[in-house]
This record gives sequence, structure tokens and C-alpha cells, in this order.
Amino acid sequence: MAYTGVSKPYKEQFIEVDINKAKNLIKRPGVRRVGVKIENTEFNCTIEGVQVGYGFRLFFKCNYCDSRVTKLYLKDHGLKCRHCIDFNYISQQATKTDLVYEFHLMKRYGRMLDPNFTMPHGISTRCPWKPKNMHQKTYDKIRHKYLIVQNKAINKWLAMVNL
Ligand SMILES: [Zn+2]
Repeated sequence: MAYTGVSKPYKEQFIEVDINKAKNLIKRPGVRRVGVKIENTEFNCTIEGVQVGYGFRLFFKCNYCDSRVTKLYLKDHGLKCRHCIDFNYISQQATKTDLVYEFHLMKRYGRMLDPNFTMPHGISTRCPWKPKNMHQKTYDKIRHKYLIVQNKAINKWLAMVNL
């Protein structure tokens, strides 16, 4: 099968294969192994047709974790689902480049609660606990700001990677 549905989300880090561009490959429930050709290399993947209510849907079955997904990504010479792509790796990369402002604000609010606050998990780093000597109201206010920025950062990141 020659594959035309290839796009490159997030700065060409991953080549994406979308099941919606492989319609009519299977017409009834069941599993089928197919080859997907990307830049002269053929990758094997499993497509599964599933009856959903009165409808019928196609999914990929990830070779690495068996998840049913609608998109696979080319990484380290294999087609993997979003669960199998190192989530932290891309979130760290994104944090360093495109989320500088959000990263900066999260750090600032975090340090108001804990002077030694760092962000080992990038934008998924959780808000620090309440310092013992801080009023609950003050803590709630800062935590609220932290969560708003974190939420923005995560949404922005999700839009960028298009997972
Ligand atoms: Zn997987």
C-alpha cells in the first residue's frame, strides 16, 4: 500500500500516519496486517476494524503496546502510538523553545512557594505544597495562578504536537 497520508507535526520531529486516510482498507470487523511506505521504507502495522454501535471504525493497533489508536508516529525506526512516544522528551523540548514565557511564569509562582523550586518534569511539574508559615488564602491564590499558566502551557503544547 503506497501511503499518501503523511504529515509532519511539531517541527518535523515525527512523521504522522493517520488512520482516517486509510479508509476502505477493511470493510468488516477484523484485523489486517498492512505495510505503510514512508520515504522508501516499508513499516508493518496492524489495522483493526471495529463495530461501534451502528457504525464501523478503523484503528491502528500499536505494535509496541497493543493500544487502539487513530494515529501512529515514526520514531526510532518504528511506528509507535502516542503512549509509546517518550512524552517527557517532547514536553521538555517544547518547554525549552516554544513555551519560554509559560515556563518562566510557572517557575516564578513556584518559587514564591518554594525558593528551591525547579521543573524536573517540564510543564507537567506539579505545584509545590503549601509552605508551613503561609496563609491558606495566599497559597490558594498563588496555586491558582500556577494552575492557570500550567493549563495554558499544556493546551499550547497539545496544539503544537497535535497528538
Ligand atoms: Zn503504543
